[in-house]
Amino acid sequence: MSAFPKIAIIGAGPSGLTLANILQRNQISFTVYENDASPNARNQGGTLDLHPDGGQLAIREAGLWDAFTTHARPESDVMKLVEMNGEVLWDENGPDKHEVPEEEKFAHRPEIDREALMQLLLAPLAPAAVKWGKKLKEVVPAAGETYDLHFVDGTVETGFGLVVGADGAWSKVRQLLTDEKPYYSGISAVEMWALDVNEKNKWLSQYVGQGNCFSFGEGRAIQAQRIGNGSIRTYACLRKPESFLKDCGIDWTKPETARKEFVERYFSDCGEDLKRIILEAEDELILRTLYMLPVGFRWESRPGVTLLGDAAHLMTPFAGVGVNAAMTDSLDLGRSIVAYKESPQEKSLADVVKDYELRLFPRGEKFAQKTMNGLNKHFSANGTQEMAGRFRAAYGK
Ligand SMILES: Cc1cc2nc3c(=O)[nH]c(=O)nc-3n(C[C@H](O)[C@H](O)[C@H](O)COP(=O)(O)OP(=O)(O)OC[C@H]3O[C@@H](n4cnc5c(N)ncnc54)[C@H](O)[C@@H]3O)c2cc1C
Repeated sequence: MSAFPKIAIIGAGPSGLTLANILQRNQISFTVYENDASPNARNQGGTLDLHPDGGQLAIREAGLWDAFTTHARPESDVMKLVEMNGEVLWDENGPDKHEVPEEEKFAHRPEIDREALMQLLLAPLAPAAVKWGKKLKEVVPAAGETYDLHFVDGTVETGFGLVVGADGAWSKVRQLLTDEKPYYSGISAVEMWALDVNEKNKWLSQYVGQGNCFSFGEGRAIQAQRIGNGSIRTYACLRKPESFLKDCGIDWTKPETARKEFVERYFSDCGEDLKRIILEAEDELILRTLYMLPVGFRWESRPGVTLLGDAAHLMTPFAGVGVNAAMTDSLDLGRSIVAYKESPQEKSLADVVKDYELRLFPRGEKFAQKTMNGLNKHFSANGTQEMAGRFRAAYGK
């Protein structure tokens, strides 16, 4: 019997690490190559909600359910919706909301901080399974239907029978499969952090509440989110040309004046509370230009190479489904590789990959279309009303 193909996973984000855990649990060898120098090399960002039929299923398959339930925050599955003029249309915060009944804790969309998710996905993996500081430059076809990995540091790893691109928006693995590149979604965002709000800013802590506090309007949105470490992360988003954040004339290196100028220019007509969310986010400020792949993006299957997560279907965050789509891919591909290991005579690895992609393409398209619809609704004049209407219909109020 020939040896099991050598597997490389490029990228230690949620999709790559979930796949790694599923493979490890089934005694399948792999190596993850990650650009970041270490797990703590950068701020991992905010919080993600894992759905029962998406991220949660993958976590179960990876054997990490108990760890997940200790890190997840079901009490943050709470929504507040505010019109741009400051009127509160929907608010699930309240004295009773902090306790979620045991049987409902994971039935909806419990939040988990990205950092906590990364830690729980990394914990079971042998340190040598993830190679940090390895930025892939190119995947090069080699002899005997294998591939070599060429890294930016000049090193080369050889002989892979399967290369999985979990390397996100600007995937280098994708370049071997298609010329398609992400395009600008039309939305630019300023991400702002207010740390330790329970101590430093009780008003902000109370106003945003336990979970999400969103406001949508024509061409703009404010989305504030509570993070488990006691901070609040806010995105103030505008529908603007791609170069807006660079060209708008606001000096982002001076956050204090930048925040004021940003509010005066683009949010001056908003309710005072919404303006305070931006003005009082006194810590880190990160500029984000949001890109996406075309809805329905697909490629011609190539034996030994495939994609998952954002590399396969990059979308904006406006339906909050990206990580669930990504982890569902990991579950699907992981199960497929395990089945191949158990019955290699049934299907070639090339067919395993092709069949995975045939399921991935319509699934990715569905998530991407939902996200596109979310973007269009959020950035419209009645965006907040529309979402509040959906909540009222769902909860009968
Ligand atoms: C601002 C913002 C907010 C979001 N909010 C939400 C949300 O609320 N809910 C939700 O479900 N989704 C959200 N998303 C989407 C979610 O973050 C992604 O869908 C998810 O992270 C995809 O996981 P991934 O592992 O496929 O890719 P990534 O998380 O992008 O991970 C890719 C990994 O590959 C590494 N890498 C990249 N290039 C290379 C290379 N050349 N060589 C080696 N390694 C490389 C990167 O360093 C990274 O670690 C948001 C996205 C953004 C941008």
